Amino acid sequence: MIKKMAIVGGTHGNEFTGVYLLEKLKQELSIEQVEIDYLLANPKAFNAVKRYIDRDLNRCFKLEDLANTDLIGYENQRAKELNQWLGPKGNAKTDFIIDLHTSTAPMGINLVLIKADPFHLRLVDYVQQRLDDVTITWEDLPDHHFLMSIADKHMLIEVGATPQGVLRQDVFEKTEATVHCIAEFIELYNGNKLPKPSDSVEVYKYFDVAYLPQNKQGETIGMVHKNIQDRDFLPLKKGEPIFKLFNGKQIYYNGEDCYISFINEAAYYDEKKAFSMSKKILIDIKI
Ligand SMILES: [Zn+2]
Repeated sequence: MIKKMAIVGGTHGNEFTGVYLLEKLKQELSIEQVEIDYLLANPKAFNAVKRYIDRDLNRCFKLEDLANTDLIGYENQRAKELNQWLGPKGNAKTDFIIDLHTSTAPMGINLVLIKADPFHLRLVDYVQQRLDDVTITWEDLPDHHFLMSIADKHMLIEVGATPQGVLRQDVFEKTEATVHCIAEFIELYNGNKLPKPSDSVEVYKYFDVAYLPQNKQGETIGMVHKNIQDRDFLPLKKGEPIFKLFNGKQIYYNGEDCYISFINEAAYYDEKKAFSMSKKILIDIKI
């Protein structure tokens, strides 16, 4: 039974959709027998129109980091506060967390799993069966660093494309529809009235990240090739051009066939990441 839930926006301060949607949801959303908290996760970064101040807040929630009092900076401190309010992680008073994000890549509605258990598979399947343009990704890590990992049950919604620090109606409405769909699922789940799910669900499971081409000094010497620009969740084959260097040369993909996403994502530039690589797998939904 899900009794206490939190909807979180602005975990990344320059992803405006979630922040403004929180205000609207506060007025309009209700789920029978569920208490909902609405939380602006990183107000300092939101006011500064930055992803973060000192450290990406959505990387601060590993158990060892939450327990480490030597970690300094605003987000490490904020993570501990959020863990107090919503958690503590591992024994949280919040049963379910929705974390609202956006991407600068045109990925539509992307639901991010960090647990592929029957509950979460049924949830993503439920949403995918009811909304258009939904993809499901899975980041399988033993002790995840995401904010939503505070609660045992959770969902990260990533909608794109939108520039950072911008509100777009299409992205706003897709995010809103996804939250309402998840709310409907929770009400049915609590009432033991969930419809029969699909037999299986298609999931993109991350396995690697590609970095922008750099010289020995770590300076960027090229850009994402137009061949792969905007090809989120489409296949990438060995031998395709992936980077164009400023000296005119092209760099070709030399890895195993995969699916790419977050292609040329603005938020990845601080780490010089160019795109993420995943395998498409089919997971049976066992109930
Ligand atoms: Zn984000």
